[in-house]
Amino acid sequence: MRTRFAPSPTGPLHLGHAFAALTAFERGQMLLRIEDIDTARSRPDWETQIYNDLAWLGLDWPRPVLRQSGRLSAYRAALDRLCAMGLTYPCRCRRADIRAALSAPQAGAPVIGPDGLVYPGTCRERPLSDAGPEDAIRLDMARALDRLGPHLPAFTETGPMHPGPHRLDARALIETVGDVVLARRDLGTSYHLAVVVDDAFQEIDEVTRGEDLFEATPIHVLLQALLGLPTPAYHHHRLILDDAGKRLAKRDDARAIAAYRAEGATPADIRRMVGL
Ligand code: GLU
Repeated sequence: MRTRFAPSPTGPLHLGHAFAALTAFERGQMLLRIEDIDTARSRPDWETQIYNDLAWLGLDWPRPVLRQSGRLSAYRAALDRLCAMGLTYPCRCRRADIRAALSAPQAGAPVIGPDGLVYPGTCRERPLSDAGPEDAIRLDMARALDRLGPHLPAFTETGPMHPGPHRLDARALIETVGDVVLARRDLGTSYHLAVVVDDAFQEIDEVTRGEDLFEATPIHVLLQALLGLPTPAYHHHRLILDDAGKRLAKRDDARAIAAYRAEGATPADIRRMVGL
């Protein structure tokens, strides 16, 4: 079974990453993917540190490693397909515009879903021919669901927290996800589109990743169905929390694997710290 570990080189790997990588490694053949589309935040030295830390942990993976910065034309092709299907529109709204639209008296309470604030649809009627460099490209969620028809796809979750098959729910997608961004103005793609294209390209059987991404999975399964890509199984694992019960972030350098290494910890200590 092929699994993957897909870190972004935007900071040191911490205990949460160690747990994610060890989980992927134990559940199958782990492929590594460097998610470096955000070039403003990604740095080559973080990438090198990722390889060092993973090797130190005793993990191994096939080479060459897939790097998202080299895959922009594949993301572009997927975006073009969704555009050709008539499911997208250009959007020039900035975050402040979206907040302003959502705070209008008639707008109701803003909903924050797995992709952030649910977009109020301000630009939805703009034609694609109108798209310029200042525009993001959004998926028209209602049209996408129409296209898939009444029998929506499902995914299998093999993780401990949300057992069972999960069928996509049109109403939840409209109300809590909405018109997600497929291509950011500055990047030409988005996390959701890139991850779907790459999991298919790498022929991943089971996507292993943190619980924080469970809610985003219906977006990925929807895009797979639209693009005619296979849906892998998903295994969302528990998050490693800090002493205050908050999930670890890249900025929590104190929890960095490199810091534990420098203090003399062994790979076995790391495994114990993450509860393995
Ligand atoms: N690149 C993401 C991260 O570092 C993980 C995305 C995924 O596993 O789907 O948080």
